[in-house]
Amino acid sequence: MDVVETAESCRALLDAARVAGRAVGLVPTMGALHEGHVSLISRARAECGTVAVSIFVNPLQFGDPDDIAHYPRTIEADLRACAHAGADVVFVPAVGEMYPSWPAPPATTVSVRGVSDFWEGASRPGHFDGVATVVAKLFSVAGPCRAYFGLKDFQQLAVVRRMAADLGVPVEIVGCPIVREADGLARSSRNVRLSPGERGAATVLWRALAAGRAAVGAGARTGAEVAAAMRAVVATEPSVALDYAVAVDAATLEEIDVVGDAAALRLLVAAVVGPVRLIDNSPATDALVASETAPAHATLPVARPPAGPVRPRRLERIG
Ligand code: AMP
Repeated sequence: MDVVETAESCRALLDAARVAGRAVGLVPTMGALHEGHVSLISRARAECGTVAVSIFVNPLQFGDPDDIAHYPRTIEADLRACAHAGADVVFVPAVGEMYPSWPAPPATTVSVRGVSDFWEGASRPGHFDGVATVVAKLFSVAGPCRAYFGLKDFQQLAVVRRMAADLGVPVEIVGCPIVREADGLARSSRNVRLSPGERGAATVLWRALAAGRAAVGAGARTGAEVAAAMRAVVATEPSVALDYAVAVDAATLEEIDVVGDAAALRLLVAAVVGPVRLIDNSPATDALVASETAPAHATLPVARPPAGPVRPRRLERIG
């Protein structure tokens, strides 16, 4: 596994892979890797000849200084997880490598109007501009490839798809299933900041989504009815502050008025639990949830990391 810090080295390795006839898979991450990330790397490993993982905590997408200050950073464990999951290249740029003018922000940013405007975009102004900018940059470093993103960040996936389509980037975007804990909580790097009590309360997001699906299954006619069912469940956890719980059109992410084809719907929820803001989402029926389940093999490597240090073949400079 090659661990590289410069865009030039990363590009050279991936260019060489393509020249050798290997398809490149890219998995962009912010590190603190968990089984959700590993499922993306495993999927890329199964589908591509060369797998690159990027680990970069992108300052451009954080509005809240407290959030980025407390974002977990676990580079040694991350490199072990990447090696175990079969990554060939890990790109770990410093902030100055991605944004040479930093701490002055880049003059050029990417803004995806429409799909960025509501839900996460409304609650976190500038967040999706930061995401679209860093992903566009990573795509330019990686070159033609398949890029793997989690459905966990459903709106982010829509933003990235739209950005890639509008800019004509030669990257195929692959959306991958959400990996959850046994009690339904979606895996997230931020979960480690939850106290045991908050960790228990956090399952209310998944329980709210289940209530939304139950409402659809019971014949709810309007998005408002589905949303009310979800909100009622969140309200049972007084320590959890709801941001939004809505039924949206899965393609446009606009809130729906009338429940039509359940397959065209998506249920979204966001709430603050203790020190962190958590998001989750689900299709509108249990059958569709089952069809999105990640294959079991994809969740193994982080649970059983290899003992001992990782020995990258080429380590430019870490830390
Ligand atoms: P992050 O490191 O949070 O930026 O996430 C990197 C990628 O992993 C994104 O495409 C996320 O959607 C994806 N991801 C995060 N959590 C999960 C999860 N629980 N299941 C599947 N994918 C996930």
